[in-house]
This record gives sequence, structure tokens and C-alpha cells, in this order.
Amino acid sequence: MECLFCKIANKEIRDNVVYEDEKTVAFLDINPRADGHTMVISRVHSNNILDLDDKETAPLFLTLKRVTAMIDKALKPDGFTIGINHGSSAGQAVDHLHIHVIPRWKNDGGSSIHGVVGNPPRESLDAIAEKIKNSNK
Ligand code: 5GP
Ligand code: ZN
Repeated sequence: MECLFCKIANKEIRDNVVYEDEKTVAFLDINPRADGHTMVISRVHSNNILDLDDKETAPLFLTLKRVTAMIDKALKPDGFTIGINHGSSAGQAVDHLHIHVIPRWKNDGGSSIHGVVGNPPRESLDAIAEKIKNSNK
């Protein structure tokens, strides 16, 4: 397996792991955008959230919550931006699902998730909602 994050999870590559359990691992981003910028992953490889086995989903989100609480206690940020770059168009560079936990401080110069893109829809919200609802049938 050539996947970088699988190698980190398997300890084939040394990294700053801050939390691990049977199902998940959390480690510091090598190019942090802020103090404590952490990535949370499942030990099971999946490219993205759509490929993630349902039974791995709850443990991943439990670890996300636990690690966010750990960072909150350790570094006392004013807030967090938590997110996934899903797909290369969205900026995903490593094809192993990872959730970024980025501590935020007042006046840190960053923006909200709304700053990531400004591509307003051309269709009505009703039409878009209908499409999404119908996809579940
Ligand atoms: P993406 O754009 O795929 O959401 O983010 C990938 C992240 O992985 C980047 O923030 C990058 O800094 C981080 N990264 C890349 N290689 C390594 C590595 O070897 N170790 C760690 N800890 N992070 C890495
Ligand atoms: Zn992997």
C-alpha cells in the first residue's frame, strides 16, 4: 500500500500522532495553517467520505469530537474550522479521507468556510432541493 496516510497510521512513517485508537488516528499536519492544525483519519483506507464504510463513520466522528476537545483544552483557541477537502477540485491532495481540525483565534486573518468559494446557484433553491431529495428515492 503506497498511501501516505496509511503509512502514518501503520507507523511506517514517523509523524506527530496526538491520538490513536483501534479504528482511528489523529496527527499534526506537516504544513500547519495554525498551531495545532490536526488531521483525523480512519485506519481503513477510503478516498473520501462517500467510500467510507458505514461502520467506520461513527468511530471517525467520535475521534473528531475527542481530538477537538483535546486541542481545545491544550491550546485554548477561540474556535475551530473543521473540514474536508473532498476531491481534487476542492483541493484534496492526499487520497485518504482526512478531516482537518484547524484551531482559530480572534483576528487570525482567516475567514469562514464561506470564504472557500463564491459560486452562487443559477437555479432556485426549491429546484435544487427537489433534485437532492429525489436522489434518495
Ligand atoms: P488535503 O489538501 O488533501 O486536504 O490536505 C493534505 C494535507 O496533508 C496538507 O495539509 C499537507 O500539509 C498534509 N501532509 C502532506 N504530507 C504529509 C505528511 O507526510 N505528514 C503530515 N503529517 N501531513 C502531511
Ligand atoms: Zn490510505
